[in-house]
Amino acid sequence: MVKTRFAPSPTGYLHIGGARTALFSWAFARKQGGKFILRIEDTDLERSTQQSVQAILDGMAWLGLDYDEGPYYQMQRLSRYQEVAELLLKQGLAYRCYASKEELDALREQQRLAGLKPRYDGRWRDSKQTPPAGVTPVVRFKTPREGYAVFDDLVKGRIAVANHELDDLVLMRSDGTPTYNFGVVLDDLDMGVTHVIRGDDHVNNTPRQINILKALGAIIPQYAHVPMILGADGERLSKRHGAVSVMHYRDQGYLPEALINYLARLGWSHGDEEIFSQEQLVEWFDLAAINRSPAKFNPEKLTWLNQHYLKIAEDARLMELVTPILLGRKYSLPGEENMFKIINLLKERVSTIEELADASAYFFQAVEPAEALRTQYFTVEIRPVLEYLIDRLAQIEWKREAIHQEIKQTVSSHKLKFPNLAMPLRVMVTGEAQTPAIDAVLELIGKEETLHRLRDQLD
Ligand code: GLU
Repeated sequence: MVKTRFAPSPTGYLHIGGARTALFSWAFARKQGGKFILRIEDTDLERSTQQSVQAILDGMAWLGLDYDEGPYYQMQRLSRYQEVAELLLKQGLAYRCYASKEELDALREQQRLAGLKPRYDGRWRDSKQTPPAGVTPVVRFKTPREGYAVFDDLVKGRIAVANHELDDLVLMRSDGTPTYNFGVVLDDLDMGVTHVIRGDDHVNNTPRQINILKALGAIIPQYAHVPMILGADGERLSKRHGAVSVMHYRDQGYLPEALINYLARLGWSHGDEEIFSQEQLVEWFDLAAINRSPAKFNPEKLTWLNQHYLKIAEDARLMELVTPILLGRKYSLPGEENMFKIINLLKERVSTIEELADASAYFFQAVEPAEALRTQYFTVEIRPVLEYLIDRLAQIEWKREAIHQEIKQTVSSHKLKFPNLAMPLRVMVTGEAQTPAIDAVLELIGKEETLHRLRDQLD
């Protein structure tokens, strides 16, 4: 059975690149009717934090990337790595290396000066020396000196590396933790991973991992190395390019289905389809269709997709998402019926939930128009017209149609055009020059509040 995994190191937030790798692994497992594992690679004790473990778990849950096993934690498997390292030592497939950091630094410096690639020289590989007292050794792998490590990457095609190019990598550090390459190999083996789908920043590690797997007598999994995501400037995507954390997008009011749709199309395609659901992604997903060249991150396209998903989202869901933001801004909100009407009026005009909250501000509180808008619309000529309108509005039953009639009547009795009155009215009541139809807006703001705001501005 197909088994894939996502194996993040908890050293920061869940970023766009990690989420896309997770999505591809997840989609492949789901498509194949297989299993998807989450494994937290937390052996870098200095950089791993509980906070970023939580960020990863929250991000996965928010995106709807459910896993069948895990989360596993490498730090809970230390005895297993130690046990297998011992086994390799016994079989003569690994050895203890007592070289000190100073010694290795000196070696590297020598190699650098001689114009050679820095690499460990195998000085403890077949050494009969007596180990120095007081030094805790590392365990190194006896990389075969002959032959090639070869694999057929499902994205990149055949990759072959001569073993003599590889040095004897460390498997276990002197503090008893496994290195990345050893931890990954043993985990993938123990967990029965059949397809390793990961970023191509790891492609150089794969030949080393294959050699270790062979030493363990394991079946080699299939590999698919996914090209990096770049910023618009062609550099690898990083914080410099703005928001790259998944949770940042949640907090800004993006919908998870928009981010999923966007990430799926980042370096993968299915014909010309731009908009598709998570179910369709699973149905169509195919590793062979992953692009071989790096993808460029395009925040505008993500926003465009989000706008699309907001438009088709259920109002009740939008209400649930926007309400906490509005309450956080200390607005007192109207009843449910009016809230739904507000959401309906605005949802086609915004591209995030955060923008929905911003755009609805004037329904809950008076917003002072910008000085430039006041100067433009609040002219000497319009003042008596507004006063006339206030008197009329004060007498009606507060319904959209009635409000509309009064505005129309005022416009015609003053020989104006509709926008000549609607614009100043809009600016003075909402503080904005662009809103949905003014009669609908005023109905929702309410009679007392509308008249109060108008009188306030006229004072
Ligand atoms: N823990 C590694 C990382 O976060 C990924 C390991 C892997 O997928 O093999 O880069």
